[in-house]
Amino acid sequence: MMYQESPQAGVIDQIVIDAPAKLNLSLAVLDRRYDGFHEIESLMVPVSLYDRLHMQRMPAGEFSLEVVFAGRLGNASSHSLACDVPDDDRNLVLRAARLLAERANIDAGLSIRLEKHIPSGAGLGGGSSDAASTLFAASKIWNLDWTKDQLAELSAELGSDIPWFFAGSAGLVQGRGEQVTPIDGIPPLDVVIACPSEGLSTAKVYAACEPDAQRRGEAASLATSLQENSIRQAIPLMCNSLQQPARTLAPSVDALLSDMAKYEALHPVLTGSGSACFSICRTAKEASQLAASLESAGWPYVCPTRCAARQMDKAAMEQYE
Ligand code: ATP
Repeated sequence: MMYQESPQAGVIDQIVIDAPAKLNLSLAVLDRRYDGFHEIESLMVPVSLYDRLHMQRMPAGEFSLEVVFAGRLGNASSHSLACDVPDDDRNLVLRAARLLAERANIDAGLSIRLEKHIPSGAGLGGGSSDAASTLFAASKIWNLDWTKDQLAELSAELGSDIPWFFAGSAGLVQGRGEQVTPIDGIPPLDVVIACPSEGLSTAKVYAACEPDAQRRGEAASLATSLQENSIRQAIPLMCNSLQQPARTLAPSVDALLSDMAKYEALHPVLTGSGSACFSICRTAKEASQLAASLESAGWPYVCPTRCAARQMDKAAMEQYE
């Protein structure tokens, strides 16, 4: 995170902050709850694929947003992967900023330039991560003395996935996604993420899935296997209850997972409710070979990257604490 102080000492006028994508290394849907939500258990890790937010203090009441598509989303063939990102008050970044100003009871303003690198509607959590980073950076620009825990609690009002992004590391996620236990010691695995151009509706995928209470505890076992560097034990625990429904609802997800298997991906899995899929790889070389094969097969978005390589701007966040 970079920031610029105003001539008034100690006042931050501008912040540039990166918002990481996430992967669900495993996701178990355990039960359908009485309130319509699902009870889940998931091992979530940040990945080194980031949206970038430039934020600037504005006069009271002035909120503005510009959305630009950059990196792998900047070229025409992948544009459909992010074209549904709103550039008005429906965008989570503006909703987050306005919510914080309202709850902090301040007359504030903010201008945001959001560079999207993370495909949307893909189960990579881009919108949620953007919202978490906005709350964090806006609280600094507006000089609020909110703790990360308070910001995380507020963020749950905007979406179940958002509080996890404040943990700053891999985490075991339970309940409907709002209970987060940070997990240390997950190795920085090489991984390839790929998306078909078709997005998936989270609600439809959950509605089509069969909860399975037998999978309780699997995400914690996966974390232990990875902490012990035992990829062989970890692989069979990397499962997603939403994968079968996503394959049925979106033929392109089925085709992508089949192609990944054809190109000898170690273990292709859906992340979140899709439509992005990923496979961990033994080495960075193996990841770039798999990525090259998927690109030449015509998949519109392919990204070799790393899991848990860098904790979510943790060092940058700590310099304010
Ligand atoms: P979820 O699993 O919560 O549906 P996702 O990871 O699949 O999320 P997101 O990138 O979070 O996908 O986007 C979900 C939807 O939220 C998009 O289709 C878009 O219409 C809307 N949206 C609102 N704000 C943003 C944002 N900042 N970035 C991306 N999408 C956003």
